[in-house]
Amino acid sequence: MTGVFGDLPGQDAVIAQLRRAAAGAAALLSGARSPAGGDRGGRPPGPAQPGAMTHAWLFTGPPGSGRSVAARAFAAALLCPSGGCGECPSCHQVFAGTHADLLLVRPEGLSYGVKQTRDLVLRAAGKPTGGRWQIVLFEDADRCTEQAANALLKAIEEPAARTVWLLCAPSAEDLVPTIRSRCRVVTLVVPSSDAVAQVLIDRDGIEPARALAAARAAQGHVGRARRLALDASAAKRRADVLRVPSLATSIGPALSAAATLVRTAEEEAKAVTEELDEPEREALRRAFGEGSSGKGVAKAMRGMAGAMKDLEDRQKSRATRVKRDTLDQALLELGLFYRDILMLQLGADVELANPESDLRKLAASSTPESTLRRIQAIMHCRELLTLNVAPLLAVEEMALSLSEG
Ligand SMILES: [Zn+2]
Repeated sequence: MTGVFGDLPGQDAVIAQLRRAAAGAAALLSGARSPAGGDRGGRPPGPAQPGAMTHAWLFTGPPGSGRSVAARAFAAALLCPSGGCGECPSCHQVFAGTHADLLLVRPEGLSYGVKQTRDLVLRAAGKPTGGRWQIVLFEDADRCTEQAANALLKAIEEPAARTVWLLCAPSAEDLVPTIRSRCRVVTLVVPSSDAVAQVLIDRDGIEPARALAAARAAQGHVGRARRLALDASAAKRRADVLRVPSLATSIGPALSAAATLVRTAEEEAKAVTEELDEPEREALRRAFGEGSSGKGVAKAMRGMAGAMKDLEDRQKSRATRVKRDTLDQALLELGLFYRDILMLQLGADVELANPESDLRKLAASSTPESTLRRIQAIMHCRELLTLNVAPLLAVEEMALSLSEG
């Protein structure tokens, strides 16, 4: 039995911490006194008492390290009558996202507003239907606006007895200090390529050499490694991105490489969002009982039009974010390619993300100084994109710098 923590390669310390806390939480529920206190109402003690259960947690770690996977596993462990067996209906419901005592929050756009947060706080104050905990899993909590963060702070300061907040953010510094200081911080590390490859081999049945290549290319990002190993179109898009260095040798090819890079990212983003959009619209139509007849249907249909408009606005905002994230991902891969070249040029003994055979020619034909300058051009392009410069313009400028030798 692997239990609920099976999908967290290289995170042994985090798993041990969460298992301890889940056991402490179960002890609170069964009425036994927790070693670190907690009152008789089953209310968890505050974050100042390490080693025990607490009501607010902050999961941090670089993208792909498994912040939300760890938070989800912890939620399963708290809600499971056997502490996270991974096999009971409760565990299955947590992983399917259908557990009645688990509120999943995933900001779709670039920010999460105060009204949404207030609604969430109200719902979070409810009693758990299963008699254990009411859990809010808030992914990308760093997207909260300032007002939203204030609304959240209130809820975390005066928690309902059985409510547990699980916030996720890239780092603790991404949240305001007032929230941070009330949370127990769980820090995930970048897992080694070997650990990631092992997961792909064990859980996805991927052949070892392919698993290791994907794990290296994904630099510890488990989900990305899995996609690269299993999804041929994702692997092809990566190959397209990595053709840019050999194309960017003079102005003409450099500009067309830039256009390809932007188009590839847009296509990938479109594939991702389209997959999500239609099922969401379908679910909304079902919720409003489209197709049924009788009294009140006309009124419900008018309500649906408003809800549909809201949904489409959220989808549009998500599409913008996914497009930006996807292009950024491509630029990071490109940056990593040049970092590998630099490492070869300097003779540094580090694990490379790319196969050495792809790097040797460029490494031999350029200097470490020009490689460094190219890496800087890529990072500068990423910065321009966060400032909302038109993607094609920013990427063209970068491609020209890359071609300057
Ligand atoms: Zn279970």
